[in-house]
Amino acid sequence: MFIDGKWTNAHNQETFASYNPANAELLGEVPSGGKDDALAAIDSASKAFPSWSSLTAYQRSKFLIDAHRLMMESQQEIAEIMTQEQGKPIRAAMNEVQYAADFLIWFAEEAKRVYGRTIPSSRSDQRFLVLHQPVGVVGAITPWNYPVSMITRKVAPALAAGCTIVVKPAEATPLCAKAVFQIFEKASFPPGVVNLVTAENPKPIGEMFINDARIRKITFTGSTKIGKMLAEGAGRGLKRISLELGGHAPFIVCADADPVHAAKGLSLVKFLNSGQACISPNRIYVHAQQEKAFLDELKSRVSKLKAGPGLEQDSKIVPLINQQALEKVETQVQDALKKGAELISGGERIRDDSCADGFFYAPTILSRVTPEMLIYREETFGPVAPVIIYQDEDDLLEMANDTHYGLASYVYTQNLKSAMRLFEGLDFGIVGINDINPTSAAAPFGGIKDSGIGREGALEGIYEYLETKLGGFSI
Ligand code: ADP
Repeated sequence: MFIDGKWTNAHNQETFASYNPANAELLGEVPSGGKDDALAAIDSASKAFPSWSSLTAYQRSKFLIDAHRLMMESQQEIAEIMTQEQGKPIRAAMNEVQYAADFLIWFAEEAKRVYGRTIPSSRSDQRFLVLHQPVGVVGAITPWNYPVSMITRKVAPALAAGCTIVVKPAEATPLCAKAVFQIFEKASFPPGVVNLVTAENPKPIGEMFINDARIRKITFTGSTKIGKMLAEGAGRGLKRISLELGGHAPFIVCADADPVHAAKGLSLVKFLNSGQACISPNRIYVHAQQEKAFLDELKSRVSKLKAGPGLEQDSKIVPLINQQALEKVETQVQDALKKGAELISGGERIRDDSCADGFFYAPTILSRVTPEMLIYREETFGPVAPVIIYQDEDDLLEMANDTHYGLASYVYTQNLKSAMRLFEGLDFGIVGINDINPTSAAAPFGGIKDSGIGREGALEGIYEYLETKLGGFSI
């Protein structure tokens, strides 16, 4: 753990292990922190807050610029740790480190653009001045599927705004978090500005974030269930909260879409990180006219996806994070097949050669999926593409919006009118139009309904960590 600028063990000296999901190999041990450690981290962040928040934006920015440079210098090394611990292909891990570093430089720049404003008053002797100030100490909880970028997506805007922070990373990927904090250490942030508490049991750390009055903001990426629990706790203390939760993305192929382009897009975004992404398509609506062309192209592309450990250069299908994740995928596929889905490809665990000891599941296409199936409603977080064949475009919005989630959605059409109708009518925070990668440090990421509250990245990202203060001056 990294507390008050020093690497430390847990108070009770406990540790826990991190394993490679591709082959169950032990990768290392890290401290398993508890309440005492969270308290020490909050103490240190709280002590560091007055001086960090008093620096000029230019001074804070300088640290983030250094961290960006150092992270890019270690891109390969961090990517290798990520591939071993989380599983994603090494090229995807390299891209993720780049994405993570993008947040550092983006918010280094945004730090200098936290403009206030003056407001005309109806009284000639009065002036209004609006100022933005950091909310205070932040508690951050991050997930395992994007274990490096989800840390910088929270830390960079918090520090840019003048907040200090305590990060509790996912228990499946503590070594990735450690690698990020080694970069922060090298960037010489003042002690206490950034703190890391690793823990095998996240519950007591979450409770400390909720119960310690000095934590003024909780930021969380993970499941809807835990997000709601944290929001309830934060509500009791009237703490600010940002939540990036689950999704159940529709992927719409209209009657006038280019089916080859759409199938190519789907094969790229669906199997990214073996489907372990909150923006992964989970309901693929294909117009009946496009069924054959789309499925033929998709099947051909999926048949070329090679499964194997992420460090092997051409691996595209990597292991799921653990046994439980594998079982969830198996259950959803079995349920769909029992209820009449058609298996186009995959549909089973992979146990060949280099996949024998890992949690590999074959890239799977199901067609004729219906609303009665579990996969139509529940997030899969695995490499399964469930296709629904529809007849009438008038029903599309109702079908696509029929979910309690609202994160990402995708539309393929060559008609501007349909594109605009769906863009405006989809109840999702993100809509990709003929585009499978609508994410960037410069763009606001986030969902509505059960997918969360608040936005990360973009100019919106920094305001999540700022309060608004009004000055009324009588002159
Ligand atoms: P997933 O099921 O995808 O792992 P979780 O929401 O359980 O999603 O995990 C996301 C993050 O939330 C992880 O860092 C995890 O340790 C943390 N977490 C899980 N349960 C709790 C809890 N009760 N209190 C605080 N954090 C938690």
